[in-house]
Amino acid sequence: MDRITYLDYAATTPVDERVVDAMLPFLAQRFGNPNSLYSLGRDAYTALEASRESVAASLGASHPSEVLFTSCGTESDNTALIGIASAMAERKGRHIVVSAFEHHAVLEPAHWLEKRGFSVTYLKPQTDGVIDPDALAEAMRDETCLVSIMHANNEIGTVQRIRALVEIAHARGAYFHTDACQTLGKMDFNVEDLGVDAASFSGHKIYAPKGTGVLYLRRGTRFQPYLMGGGQEFKKRSGTQNVAGAVAFATALRIMDEERPLEGPRLASLRDRLVSAVLEGIENTELNGSLTERLPNIANFIIKGVEGEAMLLQLDAKGISVSTGSACSSGSLEPSHVLLSIGCPPELAHGSLRVSIGRFTTEADIDYLVDCLTPIVERLRSMSPVYAKMFPASR
Ligand code: PLP
Repeated sequence: MDRITYLDYAATTPVDERVVDAMLPFLAQRFGNPNSLYSLGRDAYTALEASRESVAASLGASHPSEVLFTSCGTESDNTALIGIASAMAERKGRHIVVSAFEHHAVLEPAHWLEKRGFSVTYLKPQTDGVIDPDALAEAMRDETCLVSIMHANNEIGTVQRIRALVEIAHARGAYFHTDACQTLGKMDFNVEDLGVDAASFSGHKIYAPKGTGVLYLRRGTRFQPYLMGGGQEFKKRSGTQNVAGAVAFATALRIMDEERPLEGPRLASLRDRLVSAVLEGIENTELNGSLTERLPNIANFIIKGVEGEAMLLQLDAKGISVSTGSACSSGSLEPSHVLLSIGCPPELAHGSLRVSIGRFTTEADIDYLVDCLTPIVERLRSMSPVYAKMFPASR
């Protein structure tokens, strides 16, 4: 196959060459342990702390020590939920609120806490994928210690009005964590403007390598360390730091910030081109999620009467990488919990197609996808008893 058309940037991104250049020296030459006192160690320490300062400045953190380097978005989410809830259980209570369409990196630690005596409210979004602040206000209890609601959803791309939700949580004395793995670099993310106490980020969504992440933890937030050992990362996340990874994360974020003023509108216009082409060119399709409160780079469609997996494999045969539901749950044929949470019936959720674009996507890529998708959908529908039942007039 000569043509690769990668349209799954929400699953992961290629590492930017500029990021590779910045991180490489810290693998083989400047390899010191940043906790060692001799000069090789001090050199690594300097690079680590410069990276921390750079990330802290981008996030609007009040102090670099609020930035903890982790191994991935999943670790950041697990650490925030378990670390904050454990520290607050005795002081405030054992109730937490999470949204029902969180990534599994939040849902699973919530289930884990539930098995250990916490009660958890799973807040359903509205059908447009937006969380109603009144619903959060109703879910809050005196013993609620933590609310965790994602900034942007990884499957449908809807963005929450975090500030309003934070105010509700704080008014009841609860901390607020947000999973911002999909928003970092793609829209403004300022911890002061949003008011969050903790936030999770993943390097491989912003053109840094897989296995890099950050947890923002506001100073003074009660927290029980989850990884214990040598006391690195201000005693909050033990383990010798991945200096090359930290340098990569900081470099990747700096590039995202620098390029966003032009890249944001470019992506939004490519996304809009895709959405119009699919909705106008292929009948019986719908776009999932709010039309306005959304990321510039994710579009998620319901293509009625078609199996997502069949579509995905046939597009793959044309060199196109897209996804049906979240990458992390692909391999399972369960309908996406995200689509179910916004009221999408299971039979339609099976026909979902997520297209997520990024730095190297061009108009030609979008047009190629649409050119390939249209006959694939027609062919699959012509063989589908489900489609014939849904739309008898189509036969
Ligand atoms: N949270 C969200 C919203 C994500 O999209 C992802 C990745 O798919 C994660 C968390 C997990 O990040 P990582 O793959 O770095 O563990």
